Amino acid sequence: MRAVREAERRIWETETTKTYTALAGDPAFADALIPLVLGPAVPRDQVAAVATPGGTGAVRQGLELIRMLNPGATVWVPDPTWPNHVSILRHLAIPHRAYRYFDEATRGVDRDGMLADLSAVAAGDVVLLHGCCHNPTGADPDQATWEAVSALLRGRGALPFVDLAYLGFGAGLEADAQATRRLAAEGDCLIAVSCSKNFGIYRERTGLLMAVARDAATARLAQGNLAHLNRQNYSFPPDHGARIVATILSDADLRRDWETELADVRRGMEALREALAAELRRLTNSDRFDFLRHHRGMFSRIGATPQQVERMRADHGIYMVGDGRINIAGLNARTVPLLAQAMVEAGL
Ligand code: PLP
Repeated sequence: MRAVREAERRIWETETTKTYTALAGDPAFADALIPLVLGPAVPRDQVAAVATPGGTGAVRQGLELIRMLNPGATVWVPDPTWPNHVSILRHLAIPHRAYRYFDEATRGVDRDGMLADLSAVAAGDVVLLHGCCHNPTGADPDQATWEAVSALLRGRGALPFVDLAYLGFGAGLEADAQATRRLAAEGDCLIAVSCSKNFGIYRERTGLLMAVARDAATARLAQGNLAHLNRQNYSFPPDHGARIVATILSDADLRRDWETELADVRRGMEALREALAAELRRLTNSDRFDFLRHHRGMFSRIGATPQQVERMRADHGIYMVGDGRINIAGLNARTVPLLAQAMVEAGL
């Protein structure tokens, strides 16, 4: 992104040392990113935070924190979820269960199934939620569902763990943060933030794990635990990407430019969604693919069976993962009609 390039230039010109930062990373990074995510929802001194290698590192450190402090807790994940959630849980031998999330018929959120399954969580259990732009389905809960989930988890004494990997890709920076802010305003929670996509700095490995506590003293304890976990796993987290993010967010011009470019990226994905849904409407004379314009973020699960995925590959040379997840951002004006045609011919 333009702002990243400019921030790197400034860093290159002004950086005088490559000494270690702190176990939690450069405090300027957390101080810049926390308000972007939480806004005024929580006082700063109630938030513990450590920089991590990407959002994956934040998820991993969050799960390690849970295992260290509450080894009996079950971690609940949506079905489906980003496969790495389950694989890290298995790797850490943390007990985990799935809750219903996606309605294959409507290709939206299975609100009733989700609430029914989550009503079985025990006090101290952890519930992993995608803050926005659910990966792999693209289906996000509406506001009423978020409110119901939040009330249910608080009522049962469960800990929400929000994975926020696509802030700004859904409906905008503020809108995409709303669900996370509500959960954080209502009590303890963990939040894993990735800067890989919204800053386009994938390989720099830039993430932040936040622990929101009910008071400043508990946040200080959490800060010590998180720094300890960083120390055990890699000592100091990567700094270059964190420095880029802090530079951009703390400079008015760079920040404005980044926000503009991020909004352009988001609108580009929205336009592709609209175009694909419109083409499918035209070809099928039905609105059954309108879910594509309601989905948010890079991904959509289009509801293809493994056989249909195979047909699209064999007959049209169109490749997608077996569960029918596509990356909307991988399309363009030329390929949208080709995909729509192939979907129809494959019998979707
Ligand atoms: N969480 C979710 C839901 C993701 O989709 C991803 C990336 O694909 C991540 C976390 C981690 O991203 P990274 O480690 O590249 O920052």
